[in-house]
Amino acid sequence: MKSTLPPLPDAESGPLSDATFVPPPSAVVAAPFDQLPLPAPVIANLARLGYHAMTPIQAASLPVALAGHDLIAQAKTGSGKTAAFALALLDRLNPRSFAVQALVLCPTRELAEQVTQEIRRLARAEENIKILSLCGGTPIRPQADSLEHGAHIVVGTPGRLMDHISRGSLKLDALLTLVLDEADRMLDMGFFDDIAYVAKACPKERQTLLFSATYPEGVVRLARQFMRQPQEISLPEQHAAETIRQRFYEVTPEQRLHAVGLLLRHYRPESTLAFCNTKQQCRDLIDVLHAEGFHVLALHGELDQRDRDQVLVQFANRSCSVLVATDVAARGLDIARLEAVINVDVTPDPEVHVHRIGRTGRAGEEGWALSLASPHDMNRVSNLARAHGFEPRWESIDALQAEDRTPLVPPMVTLQILGGRKDKIRPGDVLGALTGEAGFAASQIGKINVNEQSTYVAVERSIARKALKRLGDGKIKGRKVRVRLLDE
Ligand code: ADP
Ligand code: MG
Repeated sequence: MKSTLPPLPDAESGPLSDATFVPPPSAVVAAPFDQLPLPAPVIANLARLGYHAMTPIQAASLPVALAGHDLIAQAKTGSGKTAAFALALLDRLNPRSFAVQALVLCPTRELAEQVTQEIRRLARAEENIKILSLCGGTPIRPQADSLEHGAHIVVGTPGRLMDHISRGSLKLDALLTLVLDEADRMLDMGFFDDIAYVAKACPKERQTLLFSATYPEGVVRLARQFMRQPQEISLPEQHAAETIRQRFYEVTPEQRLHAVGLLLRHYRPESTLAFCNTKQQCRDLIDVLHAEGFHVLALHGELDQRDRDQVLVQFANRSCSVLVATDVAARGLDIARLEAVINVDVTPDPEVHVHRIGRTGRAGEEGWALSLASPHDMNRVSNLARAHGFEPRWESIDALQAEDRTPLVPPMVTLQILGGRKDKIRPGDVLGALTGEAGFAASQIGKINVNEQSTYVAVERSIARKALKRLGDGKIKGRKVRVRLLDE
């Protein structure tokens, strides 16, 4: 375990950072993980996960973080920031000490869950590392009980962590690493005071890592107050332009919603996030796409947490082609493998535009960012182009009208099993039930999500009915379970 920390700065108001690191283009070329001072089992585990080379933000920040420095890292969504801090905090951890040694703050429950899962995967090289996720929206007592049993790493939202600290259920005396993930979004959501409360409850001798997609004034303030001589790493957005292909289509207001279907049938993306500026536009678009036979779901503010989880599971496991959302509803959403983002309406805010299209073209894969603009929107488009320094490339929607394409059908269907973590169901049990007696091939089974009350399993569309019947007739963990098909 390393314990070398850089000295404290002389004055609180000293220079924020001693280095701004922008990697030269050569650093963007794949760098292997084994050039880092990491133990061999960790490297082997990364290879098992399919992480063969560092992403640019990992290559730039891991050497700094592993050396024990405080760090401010700015890079777009989907660039691999989680592993950049997770590998560092895991490296400092002592598994034999049952005390919270790392704390990760995330803006939303979903992000906290994702970060928890990613850390779990990365921690597999080491036995018995306990990671707890503590977020609002669920009862606090069971969380406090889990904390009693000991955890090495806690991931959570600022408000709930603050609650646990103030009730004394979360003790931070042994903390080594504090991570502020998506700092800009946490500030957007009004968490400054909560973050400050949590940071003040941490020991002074610690490493603080701050990750953010943008670098607004509030983040600078946070860093000044709670970090010591942080090194700054910033990856320019130009990286995005390489993997995101933007196209603009001029439409009349009457054509707009119908044009979305034309784009979907033309580009045939497996997963598309469609952004509307208003809730009403979302509702109208859903109606139009449903009528045209697409598999669509909506993400809106009125969904309760369970329905929201269900929607996100179906989208992420590829049993729904299109997710329609407003910017507010999509906040905190992170889904790998998005082939396309459609801006059904052009946003007036260039920052929002970048956030939207940043959801596609993840981790080196290419993605489409398609925007529909009516003559009325032309000012907005030129604003975006000016703000981000690109020349909009226009295509004609009329050329797509003539195409006769088969409907776009998602490859998978989701089965919901009424039973989850509380029934001790694990993904392996479900996979076993489907590939064992039921006789399906593992390749026909997709993502398996086990939630507290429910389990969701994606299966190939062609075997959906049979899988539903066989799961319903068979047993999981020695018990009969109720299963239903989720298909909008
Ligand atoms: P961010 O926090 O920057 O938005 P994530 O940490 O969520 O990005 O990573 C985005 C996706 O890339 C995840 O699915 C993650 O598993 C994957 N990923 C991260 N690092 C690597 C890597 N070195 N090689 C391959 N995939 C990676
Ligand atoms: Mg992240």
